[in-house]
Amino acid sequence: MKKYGVRRRETCRICGSSHLEPYLDLGDQPPSNSFISAAEVAGEQRFPLRVYLCRQCGLSQLLDLVSSEDIFDEYAYLSSTSRALCAHYQGLVDQALALFSVPEGALCADIGCNDGIMLNRYPAGRMRLLGIEPSSAGEHARAAGHQVVQEFFDAKLGARLAREHGRVSLVTSTNVFAHVDDITSFARGVAEWLADDGVWVIEFPYLVDTVDRLYFDTVYHEHLSYLALTPLARLFAQVGLRAFRVERVELGASGPALRLFVCLDGSARAEDASIQAMLSAEADWGITEPQRYHAFAERVAETRQRILALLAELKAKGETVAAYCAPAKGNTLLNYLGVGPDDIFAVSENNDLKIGKLTPGTHIPVISDQDLLDSKTGYALLLAWNYLDFFLAHSDFIKAGGRFIVPLPEPVIRP
Ligand SMILES: [Zn+2]
Repeated sequence: MKKYGVRRRETCRICGSSHLEPYLDLGDQPPSNSFISAAEVAGEQRFPLRVYLCRQCGLSQLLDLVSSEDIFDEYAYLSSTSRALCAHYQGLVDQALALFSVPEGALCADIGCNDGIMLNRYPAGRMRLLGIEPSSAGEHARAAGHQVVQEFFDAKLGARLAREHGRVSLVTSTNVFAHVDDITSFARGVAEWLADDGVWVIEFPYLVDTVDRLYFDTVYHEHLSYLALTPLARLFAQVGLRAFRVERVELGASGPALRLFVCLDGSARAEDASIQAMLSAEADWGITEPQRYHAFAERVAETRQRILALLAELKAKGETVAAYCAPAKGNTLLNYLGVGPDDIFAVSENNDLKIGKLTPGTHIPVISDQDLLDSKTGYALLLAWNYLDFFLAHSDFIKAGGRFIVPLPEPVIRP
């Protein structure tokens, strides 16, 4: 079975400060996508899952780094299987092309292009497109006809791409940036590559939502930084970039997200009022203040108790309970709850790579959606809560009379 390595950081990955305060401890957990067979249970590894606040720049971050090569290779997430996500990215590409009058034939790129979900959203033949994807998922983008560089993006690669392909007019990276340890090198690479009037669009889960809406299950080992504008503005200034527009979007790849538009510091692009508005909102909110985060951790612990009470109540009534979908964040929640197969007898999934295995840490069998239907289970803990509306409308489980236990932000049963 696969062996994971762990490395410990001692300083903030943006400002280098060692003034780091832990505020959320979710215990020792296996890497969130490390589904295992029954024979592998004994050798399973766990690593601390703990979030720290940098008192100097306000970046929330993990300092225990599980080696990323191991994490990314096997369960390379194929984004295009999600129709909701395709529609979301179509909106992003259409918006960027319309707002920034990107000329025909200009170079447009997606860093962390996965199976080509973003590149496929561009009007055919109008732009020169390039994907960057270190994992094997890039093969699917290549099969769809895209040019893909299979490497991790950093300052060196950004400079090389500028030489080999020319400067980039529009570059996107969605749900990638928060997964990178050396984000300074990543941002510097974009600065090296960006055309004078080029735009970098980044999307990531917003720390303020994570805290206010209690989305603590977005904490897992692959997710190294919990981002907000204040620390990012500092990072950009360090590498010759600046943010000039920001907006909140309800549906990113893993829930509500921030969409940030960044340009070269010397670019003629004017700064939108949204930037100062968000910076002052974050200051008022207390982005560098530990009290805000300790209160969050207390609410997380209370919510855990409430979810467990709800599960116990159903069990006392003689109901069997399953879980629905097995995304990375679902494993954070299951491990933090401390449940096992006695509490949740199975998790249903449509990913063939996971079916037949056990969930990491909690060892709950993963079954197919059809097997869940055949089991006549009445209740399922919805681990992919960000798709609640979609599953309420479309899932066979609900059509067959099943009900979801929605864990966050308030544990409730729907419909
Ligand atoms: Zn810092």
